[in-house]
Amino acid sequence: MAEEKKVQRKSIKATRKMGRIMAEYFYELDAAAKSGEKKIAWCTSVGPAEILRSMGFLVYFPENHGAMLGATRMATDVIPEANAMGYSPDICSYLTADVGAYLKGVTPMSKAYKGIEAVPRPDVLVYNTNQCRDVQDWFAWYAREFDAPLLGIHTHRGVGDVYDSHVKSIAKQMQDLIAPLEEVSGTRFDPQALRRVVELSRQCSDLWKEVLDTASHVPSPLTFYDGSIHMGPAVVLRGTRQAVDYYKLLLAELQERIAEGVAAIDDERFRIYWDGMPIWGRLSNHAKMFAALKTCVLASTYCNSWIFKAFDPDDPFTSMAKAYTELFIVRADTSKEKYIKDMLQFFKVDGVIYHDAKTCPNNSNCRYGMPQRLEEVTGIPSLIINGDLNDMRLVSDEQTKTNVEAFIEQLEENRQ
Ligand code: SF4
Repeated sequence: MAEEKKVQRKSIKATRKMGRIMAEYFYELDAAAKSGEKKIAWCTSVGPAEILRSMGFLVYFPENHGAMLGATRMATDVIPEANAMGYSPDICSYLTADVGAYLKGVTPMSKAYKGIEAVPRPDVLVYNTNQCRDVQDWFAWYAREFDAPLLGIHTHRGVGDVYDSHVKSIAKQMQDLIAPLEEVSGTRFDPQALRRVVELSRQCSDLWKEVLDTASHVPSPLTFYDGSIHMGPAVVLRGTRQAVDYYKLLLAELQERIAEGVAAIDDERFRIYWDGMPIWGRLSNHAKMFAALKTCVLASTYCNSWIFKAFDPDDPFTSMAKAYTELFIVRADTSKEKYIKDMLQFFKVDGVIYHDAKTCPNNSNCRYGMPQRLEEVTGIPSLIINGDLNDMRLVSDEQTKTNVEAFIEQLEENRQ
């Protein structure tokens, strides 16, 4: 058995800066909700944020709020409120936690940001079903609650190769959003403004990729747990100068770590790829558990989901359509397997952990034989952890710890 000792997570200096820009983001939304001076659009995490931002909306992401509910361990207490309204405990626990918190009149923002008492009221809600159908139902609930217009993009699912026909149909749906959004915003769509936002999103995406790619260095300067926290600006502030500046700062710090030989995990012995969502309520515990085992969980499908290589300011609608359809979560298993195989090689991985999140089949890739197929072609062993992103009643800490320790032991034996 690998020896376990008490460990602290190694802190990233840029975290303080991120805290400031995230606070500014939430306070700006809160001020707009209170004054009505700026319109607010709710958007799914891989929805058409660039269009909304270019039209002057402040953009709020309920999934980010769902993750905050998970990370602060408030989710489990509020989920039953949504269940009582007819939203099953088996569906997305971001949805049930978020709606449950709203029904209970609580938000983690009020603890983190003094003076913010509630989520910002939407003027319009815009989803893209590229990730799942749950987001449509989630936004529809709030559209009824706030009597606000609901707009959506309906994406192909299980896509192998992305063809022009896919891209054209999504680009057309994006263009069709403009007229109803002009009506809500009271402003005319400006193609130059969209160009500028897409350019900033592209820069953010490229820098975020560079940040995550630093983990290919041995030893890695970054863990998946750091990435899960530092992805905040890539999700909620892509398309802004703040996000670009932030990732320049973070990247410089990680490059400095590499230059100075500073590892995220002291004496890094094993390198693990994480597939699936974080278990938000156990982020810190898991970071410490793996560090104690001298194991760096260093890369993930999840954090990479906010890399959009296709963004092109010279062709914004087509490139956005392509970027938001090429996403891992939209794709067929054949494409996903190729992607993970390349990632395992790039990050020099010793083992793979699949998180089978009970309430998110969309982000759980171990239910149709993928781990076995990948293990056969790569020879890299894998482990499946049963759990959930937000509902801690579905997480067994003992079982997770026992399984992880046995897996690391297996990796150790394989080395001998
Ligand atoms: S992808 Fe999963 S976690 Fe995200 S909104 Fe959909 S069901 Fe929820």
